[in-house]
Formats: sequence, C-alpha cells, structure tokens
Amino acid sequence: MTIAHSPTTALQVQLKTAEAELQTSIWQEQEAIYHHCFERVLTGFIQHKVGEEHFLSVTGYGHDDLGREVTDAVFAHALQAEAALVRVQIVSGTHALAVGLHGCLNPGDTMLSITGRPYDTLEEVIGLRGKNRQSLAAKQVHYDEFSVFNQPKSPETAVGYSVRTQFTEAEAEKIKRANLVFIQRSRGYSLRPSLTIPELEALILQVKAIHPTVIVMVDNCYGEFTQYQEPTAVGADLIAGSLIKNPGGGIVPAGGYVAGRADLVASCADYLTCPGVGAEGGYTFNLTRILLQGLYLAPGIVKEALKGMTLAAKLFEQKGYDTAPHWQDSRSDIIQILTLRDPDKLVKFCQILQSLSPINSHITPIPANPPGYADEVVMAGGTFIDGSTLELSADGPLRSPFAVYLQGGLTYAHTRLAILKILESFDHSL
Ligand SMILES: *Cc1c(COP(=O)(O)O)cnc(C)c1O
Repeated sequence: MTIAHSPTTALQVQLKTAEAELQTSIWQEQEAIYHHCFERVLTGFIQHKVGEEHFLSVTGYGHDDLGREVTDAVFAHALQAEAALVRVQIVSGTHALAVGLHGCLNPGDTMLSITGRPYDTLEEVIGLRGKNRQSLAAKQVHYDEFSVFNQPKSPETAVGYSVRTQFTEAEAEKIKRANLVFIQRSRGYSLRPSLTIPELEALILQVKAIHPTVIVMVDNCYGEFTQYQEPTAVGADLIAGSLIKNPGGGIVPAGGYVAGRADLVASCADYLTCPGVGAEGGYTFNLTRILLQGLYLAPGIVKEALKGMTLAAKLFEQKGYDTAPHWQDSRSDIIQILTLRDPDKLVKFCQILQSLSPINSHITPIPANPPGYADEVVMAGGTFIDGSTLELSADGPLRSPFAVYLQGGLTYAHTRLAILKILESFDHSL
C-alpha cells in the first residue's frame, strides 16, 4: 500500500520556513521561560510535601482541609506571593478581581486605575455602569483613572502605542490621593499593548516612590507564566486571575485566585466567605488534585499557546497584515491581534477555527449583537471548558479595522493546523 501525500503547497513551504526561523529566535526565549516557570512550580510542590492525602476534600464546613491549605501554599510559591487564596467558589476572573478590590478598599477610599478603563466586566463592579447596590461606588469607594499609554496617531489600530515612563504633576497628585492603584497587565480586548514584567516593575517603582504605602493591585488575567516572573515578584501587593485561563493548565473546570501580601489575602478571604471564616472554610468538591495538576501543567500549556500565537503573527505578517504583538516581541499574555481589514475575512477566520475545534465543530458562528455591545461580534470557541480562553479561541467586533483577537491553544499542533487552513482559504478566495 502506498501512502498518498498531499502535494506540498507554497503555503506549507512558508510554514516550514517560518518555523525554522522561530526555532532559532523567539521560541528559544519562550522555551527558556517555560523551563524557568516550571522549575518554580515544581519546587512549590516539593517544598510543601504534596501527597495523595491532599486530594480528598473535607466535606461540610471544610475545616482543616489540608488539601485546600497546601493548594494555597503551592500557588503562592508558583505566583511568587506571600499567600494565595485559590477557590472554586470564585466563579470567574471578574469575581477574583472583585474579591481583590472589595478586600482591599474601605468606604471613603479611592481606587485609581493607571492603565485607563479596566476590562469591560469590571465596570459594574466599580459602579461605572448600572446602579448595583453591591458596586464599589455604592459603598462610597471613589474611582479615578488615567492611562500610562501614549495614544498613536490613528488609535483604531494596535500600531504605535507606547508606555510612558514619567507621570505628570496631575497624575502624581492622583497617586498621592489613592488608596489602591490598579494596573491591568494584559491588553484584554483593547488595542494598547500588554505590560511586560520589566515595564510593570518600572511603573510600580514610580508609584511607590510617590506613595510608598499605596496598595498596588494587578489584573493578572492571561499573564501567568508568559514571562520569567509574576507581578508579585516586582512589587505588586495583590494579583488576581482566573483558573480557566493560564494557571488552570486547561484542565481546571472553574475557579479563580488572589495572591500577594498575606494581610490583604486574608482580608479578601473574609470578603469571599465572611469574617471569622476567612480562608479556613469552604468545600473543594474533591477538585484539589485537578487544581494542583492544572498548575503543574500550566507553564507548558502557556508555552504551547505562546508558540502558536507567535506562528500566527509571523505568517500573517508575511502576508502583509498588521499584527500586535509582532512575532519577534516578548509576550506578556496569550492574545494575538491580527488586523484583517475585511469583515468577510473576520467571519471566515472564526468559522474555519470553529470547524477545526474538538467540541462543536459542526456549529457555524455568525455575527451577533451581544447585550451591551455597540457592534456585532463574531466568536469561535469549541472548547472543553465553557468559555475557556486558554483553549484555542477567537473573536472580533465587526468594525474597522476588522481585527481578530486570537488566543490560547492547548497544543501547538492545533493552532498550527488552524492557521494553515485559514490562510489556505484566504489564498483561494483572492
Ligand atoms: C479574562 C479577563 C478578565 C476576567 O474575565 P472573566 O471572563 O470574568 O474570567 C479580566 N481582565 C482581563 C484582562 C481578562 O483578560
């Protein structure tokens, strides 16, 4: 029997050439970061003597659950924090951030975001949208913001943004008056770049020079294990994130974390449960092994995602598309923007990606208007865990410049295949 090979297309040659170039450049850095982070994670397991006895949760109140305690300790080590609160009762990244903010802020305090308007879902938490009785605004917590990003001349593309290294006089005044300075590490769904750890370090240093006792909190969603260090290693007092993103390694079914200064983490635990219970109660539904195994896998899965995003950037750049970040850039999250400049291409991109998903490949995404959005949005995400964006997924609003936000990828092979098929289809429709 002879095995029929499909003829090698020009695109496959480009793919091989791109991989060869990545292999001798940026992938080496991503590989080195993986090894560094993996060793730190593993050291946490060893130092805290994780054993099989930790895998069974204590029912009811969940008092003296050694598994929950060791999970917090191992996560704290992995996240370079004094303490961590890792809970399946934290329902999402937004909830983790809300727990962090409520845990740190008292009535009369001021929260100051220095990376502009935070992630969409935090607007209701802060009280910028809606009239929720449980918002920070309803509890007399004030909010203020400015952005350390310089806007480019044409702010509708992701090109030309830079981070300012100096605060103005007025900004320094705001920092002096703030009780908590909030920094979003990842671009999320905005066009400005993600902040690298050295950039975060420089920013935090300046903030603390102006106001040494201010609490610096970092939204770490999408950022974990993409760089050598976590924000908590360079001065952040508290970080928060989602377990269906990076630190869950693709296998944790739900949850979130806050990590940082022990006194702040304890206060967050009191907010999540109640004073007197704090971190000492709460059933873990026998998920401790999964939480720990997800963390163990996370640096490797994040590397797979980074490799895939880098390949996407490289190939789309070669085809003349604007991308952010560029393929050779150091990454601080697992998101890739590809500017397609064509609504049909944006829809097609998502449809092909969906058709190559392990789950729901037979469903065809079409643009729709989600509540609260001004533009139609098209989304693809055939994921094992609902809403997990550590798994390969894409979405984009149907407005100029028709940029697709591509993210995640549990295996490089999957992203590679999807990119190849998408570019093949774009070539054919020329
Ligand atoms: C994902 C994300 C969040 C939280 O989103 P959830 O969907 O609630 O988990 C917050 N900030 C950023 C930057 C994010 O990427």
